[in-house]
Amino acid sequence: MAMSKKVIKEHMHKDCSICAKHMDVILYNDRSYRGGHYFGKVPLSTEKEKARARSFGTRTVMWGDKEVQVAKKDPKPYGYAEYWECPKCYWGESDDKPKTVYHFN
Ligand SMILES: [Zn+2]
Repeated sequence: MAMSKKVIKEHMHKDCSICAKHMDVILYNDRSYRGGHYFGKVPLSTEKEKARARSFGTRTVMWGDKEVQVAKKDPKPYGYAEYWECPKCYWGESDDKPKTVYHFN
């Protein structure tokens, strides 16, 4: 039987940030992983804080050749969450759902 150099280091339980589907993510000893797609950390803020940030309005910026509305103020985050997508969302079967765009000043 062929031996693989990869050794499973950890089984992680993650939820898809788009559809909330549960994922079993396997982390290997070489820091690679499978079972989900990790995009980094995103800020979390309360609904109250989001509403406060919204009250400052938006400004128009050019994104490529498109005009997009960007919030003048970002909600203050109370913490950060890991952003994961399940393979189904990652491969674009949920394109009808809008994705939140985060921007940093
Ligand atoms: Zn998903």
